[in-house]
Amino acid sequence: MHSRCDLACDHCYVYEHADQSWRARPRSIAPETVAAAALRIAEHARERGLRRVHLVLHGGEPLLLGPTGLAMVLTRLRAAIEPVAELDLRMQSNGVLLTPQLCDLFLEHGVRVGISLDGDAAANDRHRRFANGASSHAQVRRALALLRRPAYRRCYAGILCTIDVRNDPVAVYQALLAEAPPRIDFLLPHATWADPPPRAGGATAYADWLLPIYRRWVRDGRPVDIRLFDSLLATAAGGRSGTEAVGLDPSGLAVIETDGTWELADSMKTAFDGAAGTGLDVFRHSVDVVTAHPEFSRSRRGLSGLCETCRACAVVSQCGGGLRAHRYSVAGGFDNPSVYCADLKKLIVTMNRESPETAVAPTDLAGDRLLDGLPAADLLDDLGTGHGSEASLRRLAAAQLAYVRGLLVQIADRVAGTPLAEAWELIVRLDEEATEAVSATFAHPYLRRWARHCLAPVSGEAPDWAYLGALAAAAAVRAGVDTDIEVPVRAGLVHLPGLGAQAIDEPGERSARLSITGGGFTARAGRSSVTVPPAGGAPPAGWAPVRQVELDGWSVLIDDIDPYRDCYQWPVSGRLDSAQLASWRGSLTAAWARIRRTVPGQIAGLRAGLRTVTPLRVDPGGRLHSAASRDAFGALGTVPAAPDPLAELLVHEFQHVKLGAVLDMSQLYDPAYRKRLSVPWRDDPRPLEGALQGTYAHLAVADIWRARQGPLARQRHRRYRGWTVRAIDELAGTGALTEHGHRFVRQMRQTVDSWSDDPR
Ligand code: SF4
Ligand code: SF4
Repeated sequence: MHSRCDLACDHCYVYEHADQSWRARPRSIAPETVAAAALRIAEHARERGLRRVHLVLHGGEPLLLGPTGLAMVLTRLRAAIEPVAELDLRMQSNGVLLTPQLCDLFLEHGVRVGISLDGDAAANDRHRRFANGASSHAQVRRALALLRRPAYRRCYAGILCTIDVRNDPVAVYQALLAEAPPRIDFLLPHATWADPPPRAGGATAYADWLLPIYRRWVRDGRPVDIRLFDSLLATAAGGRSGTEAVGLDPSGLAVIETDGTWELADSMKTAFDGAAGTGLDVFRHSVDVVTAHPEFSRSRRGLSGLCETCRACAVVSQCGGGLRAHRYSVAGGFDNPSVYCADLKKLIVTMNRESPETAVAPTDLAGDRLLDGLPAADLLDDLGTGHGSEASLRRLAAAQLAYVRGLLVQIADRVAGTPLAEAWELIVRLDEEATEAVSATFAHPYLRRWARHCLAPVSGEAPDWAYLGALAAAAAVRAGVDTDIEVPVRAGLVHLPGLGAQAIDEPGERSARLSITGGGFTARAGRSSVTVPPAGGAPPAGWAPVRQVELDGWSVLIDDIDPYRDCYQWPVSGRLDSAQLASWRGSLTAAWARIRRTVPGQIAGLRAGLRTVTPLRVDPGGRLHSAASRDAFGALGTVPAAPDPLAELLVHEFQHVKLGAVLDMSQLYDPAYRKRLSVPWRDDPRPLEGALQGTYAHLAVADIWRARQGPLARQRHRRYRGWTVRAIDELAGTGALTEHGHRFVRQMRQTVDSWSDDPR
């Protein structure tokens, strides 16, 4: 409407960012340009059979067009478009010039006005000032007071607030709420990798700023629509975001400038001079020509238009790579994650975890969702059979990865401003350059235990923040990125999680400096220095790699070195010598062959989900022990055993691994249920979750014995099958299962009932 403004906000992306095309444009839109634009829009709505068209009048400052100019625009637009389609007319304004006469005009034409306000006076005055430096706060509040009047309330669209993380978030939220807007839009200040946003407060300053508002908003009963939160909650439930800022909705937005040129979304102006330009105009080019423009169609491509990192991201269905403009870098163009990636990830993962949908009363849990926003039903049906497809295990793994990433972001907050921030900065950099290596590092099963231990340490134990350096080093080694990083030395060892440990011959040293080059590294501590070459090179004395066993086309780690592996109910063994290792490899290979033969339905899930077997200490009485931990997805612990019993232990524990991950993502029972259940495999009554876990494990064990031959096998199968059925009935009778819980238990029952060929 008008390409100049009566304010001179220093964060304005129209005037203060890369694009300066406003300088060559007419100040205000001419009547013939409005007429041509209106005809193009009407033509498009007619040809495409559109029922509704959304128009936002903006600038610069649209109110500078004055009452006469605005009346002309509104009359022409309505006359051309309304015979064809319903018109949703809005305006975005700074409010300074809003008067009752203009409100009357907007009422007459059905225009809803959004006002820009960044919070209380102090917050607003940081940026939103007149050219002479004077505050605009009083004028803007006067405009909002006008829109609150009962007569004009219908014209009140809401408030647009640009975030400045130096402002107190809850104070800003309260200041905006006090203006009684129907909706609040929080805008991440437009920025790119070439010109990143101010980050006072750390790597996730914007998520950290938004989350207190989110929590306050939930606690307040969500008294106002907040677009960003509403969009993320909607996408978590599998819905549409309704905005181009997040989610994978295709953008359907084009801009018409005062000279009649068609442009891309105006946020693109922040990328580089001319970034929003198309070279097309309303006089010569139809909307169809605009939508066929390569840049326009690129911005509409959803998932396929995103970079590889975003496409592989666990929260992509909610984040969508953020606003396209925010992905720009000089080297990669728009083929990057958002410059707000860490913020978006943290915001989404935290909101998912804390979402009001999962905090409601258990009777209302029918609609609860998985962490990754996918509906749970198909996953529960698949895993409830007692087996589990590769796709299901990958979904569990993706959700666990997102959970671990969320924990790491919290750790990053805690170490911000300390020397350990170096490690987090390296991880963030690697996450952009070598996402796969970082994800593989984060998927190491015992990281979650370390992270949770840091964030909620057992009393008397100090959090091991320094291990973040070890994690960063492991990611850099995997990525083959050259760097230098401080790592902790524990009991004379430098650990690289998932890779191995190097002995440091320097008693008393608590840390070492690692110089990583080409996938190998040199560790220096005190006067000692040792070099571990990349894989394939001859390792130095004292290098203890995590070893593995190859099993027909895939491999499992035998982790007997990780410092956080001792997370089971039975003690773990020490480092295996070469004879013990050879014996383990032989037993695992033979057990795998048994699993293949007896329960082939378990193969795909195990291959996709089992990463690590940790040897447990051999019981002096020769009893067989095995265990899984909720904090170690993808790992299990077991004592060595002959092939048949080992096959049974592996399958049994992997059931616990799978169900633990499902319980992390979906509420299967009422957590307030306190009664204990009697189960046939134990003398003492069990909590509901313990009974559910045992039932799921015995379902798989009964399945194994079902496939074995002989009288003993028949007798064992009958026993485990009977236990499973009794426990299923017990669970179903508690009245404490959610809809998802019933679904899962029903599926287990169907599996048992389908064993019609049973020897009874
Ligand atoms: S009011 Fe809006 S258009 Fe005007 S200077 Fe401020 S941010 Fe820019
Ligand atoms: S990688 Fe980052 S920007 Fe991309 S979808 Fe994930 S959170 Fe969003």
